[in-house]
Amino acid sequence: MSKLKNKVAVITGGNSGIGFGIAEAFKNEGAKGVIVGRNQNTLVSAAAQLGENFIGINADVTNLTDLQRVYKETAEKFGKIDVIVANAGGGAVGTVATFGEADFDKAIDLNLKSVYFTVQNALPYMNDGGSIILIGSNAAHRAYPSFTLYGAAKAAVIYLAKGFSSDLLNRKIRANVITPGTTDTPAFDKFVPAEQIEAVKKHFADQMPIGRIGQPADIGKTAVFLASDDSSFMLGAELLVDGGMTYLA
Ligand code: NDP
Repeated sequence: MSKLKNKVAVITGGNSGIGFGIAEAFKNEGAKGVIVGRNQNTLVSAAAQLGENFIGINADVTNLTDLQRVYKETAEKFGKIDVIVANAGGGAVGTVATFGEADFDKAIDLNLKSVYFTVQNALPYMNDGGSIILIGSNAAHRAYPSFTLYGAAKAAVIYLAKGFSSDLLNRKIRANVITPGTTDTPAFDKFVPAEQIEAVKKHFADQMPIGRIGQPADIGKTAVFLASDDSSFMLGAELLVDGGMTYLA
């Protein structure tokens, strides 16, 4: 299969979880490109698993100088970019009773500001007709305790897909957003003591209308669709990939 043959993609947070699932799905469809993250060990091992058509670039997406370097190096290595996946995000767990200004800034820097600038800095290096894929969260639609700021930032990301598409009509660059529900990634594991992880995952799976939690590959397949010409009539759309947990549970 080669829905993305020779397409150049940049995937932030491609060294872990959902981002790696997307990178694997892209690779399997013939894409090449770059995964971005800060952890050098996972970056090197993820890039090695993806093979010769992918490289890892160590960068912090909340740092604009880092972002500019990512795109410059990508263009030098691969030429113009066809697909941007703004996936890096997470953290930001705390209630309004305790989350202060520094926590606010950190949460918004990663989950909203970095998404905006990941896209803005890519534009000079992108092909017209390219695809921008943002990763939201079902926490944008339902309140979960302590996910207040995270959910608010992700709700804004859902809007950004519409705004970007509108702003970039002259270049036929489409922006869409995938909204995952609970997905089996290292981020999920961080919230749970190691010895309880399997029991907690089973508990979550039992709550899911579809009977299981999501896998990075579920998001990867959806990202292939949004990156490819199969979705050429979609702009500013949101695809909820959540096993039914947002509206059916
Ligand atoms: P992981 O923790 O597995 O992956 C997060 C990735 O983001 C890592 O590769 C990490 O790399 C990267 N990252 C984080 N901060 C930065 C930064 N400042 N600069 C560069 N890279 C960064 O989490 P998931 O795969 O679960 O999450 C991916 C996305 O999916 C996030 O946006 C998250 O909000 C969203 N999501 C996840 C859900 C889930 O249930 N897992 C549900 C809904 C949405 P490194 O540490 O090397 O910097």
